[in-house]
Amino acid sequence: MNFAFSSTAQSYINRLQDFMAEHVIPAEAVYFSQLKRGERPWVVPPVMADLKARAKQAGLWNLFLAADEHNKVHGAGLTGLIGLSNADYAPLAEIMGRSFIAPEVFNCNAPDTGNMEVLVKYGSAEQQQRWLQPLLSGEIRSAFCMTEPDVASSDATNMQATAIVEGDEVVLNGVKWWSTGIGHPDCRVVIFMGLSDLNPKAPKHLRHSMVLVPMDTPGVKIERMLSVFGDQDEPYGHGEVSFTNVRLPVSSIIAGAGRGFEIAQGRLGPGRIHHCMRVIGAAERALELMCKRAVRRVAFGQPLADLGGNSDIIANARIAIEQARLLTLKAAWMIDTVGVKAAMSEIAQIKVVAPNVAQMVIDQAIQIFGAAGVGADTPLAAMYANARILRLADGPDEVHRSMIAKLELKPYRNSL
Ligand SMILES: Cc1cc2nc3c(=O)[nH]c(=O)nc-3n(C[C@H](O)[C@H](O)[C@H](O)COP(=O)(O)OP(=O)(O)OC[C@H]3O[C@@H](n4cnc5c(N)ncnc54)[C@H](O)[C@@H]3O)c2cc1C
Repeated sequence: MNFAFSSTAQSYINRLQDFMAEHVIPAEAVYFSQLKRGERPWVVPPVMADLKARAKQAGLWNLFLAADEHNKVHGAGLTGLIGLSNADYAPLAEIMGRSFIAPEVFNCNAPDTGNMEVLVKYGSAEQQQRWLQPLLSGEIRSAFCMTEPDVASSDATNMQATAIVEGDEVVLNGVKWWSTGIGHPDCRVVIFMGLSDLNPKAPKHLRHSMVLVPMDTPGVKIERMLSVFGDQDEPYGHGEVSFTNVRLPVSSIIAGAGRGFEIAQGRLGPGRIHHCMRVIGAAERALELMCKRAVRRVAFGQPLADLGGNSDIIANARIAIEQARLLTLKAAWMIDTVGVKAAMSEIAQIKVVAPNVAQMVIDQAIQIFGAAGVGADTPLAAMYANARILRLADGPDEVHRSMIAKLELKPYRNSL
């Protein structure tokens, strides 16, 4: 068993770490001061454009697109594809996860990454030219509209919004919420998921469609922006969006009517690796900050590190991060070698483990920092909020646990 990263991954790790240290981490304070100074909250801080241009020039751009997806692109002349394996990209996602602003700098932020993967795998040549190319070049951003306020959306078959084909048009109706990224000034398109087959007796995973909806289509309205622990996460934001008799050509449906669930499944595997490795990166940064603080700050005549159970807390944080990272890398390796279906349990396991480990480690770092930990002078409070929401976003912990248990019990049930 070889735990070393490939030479390709190692070379990107070195380049990305250097870029983060030289450009991204020092720009964080500038970014947030520009964001908060802005008269309108929904603007992109100018420093972001500068960082993106530098990252592109350094060849650290669109690193997330895995090799198999790269090969499946059928649109002519698409540029900006790298083609790393999931195992090679995973450590890069971890490095990006150390900073709130880094994923966008490298055009590797959710939900654009998932949406681009959908377009790479399932988009028509026309859809790829119109939407994928500007997403790949970072000119526009996108959102993903699946969750609904009126139904328990951890069970996607509860969905009520509709995408009905009428002649050569598809007509959308319904309300979505927690559509991340929809507040971004460059958000031009959303992927909307709705019911196309209203017959309740039809096979439940063949009734839905995914539709590309330009933001300026009549009938699309952002009703309000939602806040997360009191913060609106500008300039991305999470919106509640209504779709009222939104009419689009049928060519806006991705891969054809009724294939929504198939696409949703296809979108899941790599996206979970990205989320989990990013949150592990946040946990690693929290541990680093916690250790620095613990050895420098003194109370009751001793460094904080030597007081009470603090050294155990630090040791346990290291153990938990290592476990979460190794499991996530294993899941990435399995996606590359045996595919998403065979890696279903591991993918569900990491989605439970990584955000919980990160939440615990960041919480402990906040404690060691005292009051400073909950303020805005360190990234800890924002990282904590992000780890906490990741226990809900992309499916609550409980749904992933039920998947793991179902797979674990399957052979025993089959043998009855
Ligand atoms: C910050 C943030 C960003 C998001 N971004 C997006 C986005 O971009 N696009 C999008 O479409 N959605 C997004 N979401 C929505 C997210 O995916 C949903 O919130 C999630 O799927 C859960 O759906 P729900 O909120 O309707 O919870 P519900 O389905 O109502 O579930 C509530 C609770 O019920 C319990 N529960 C549910 N199922 C089970 C089970 N099988 N076993 C045991 N207990 C269970 C769990 O405790 C669960 O937390 C985002 C959410 C957040 C918080």
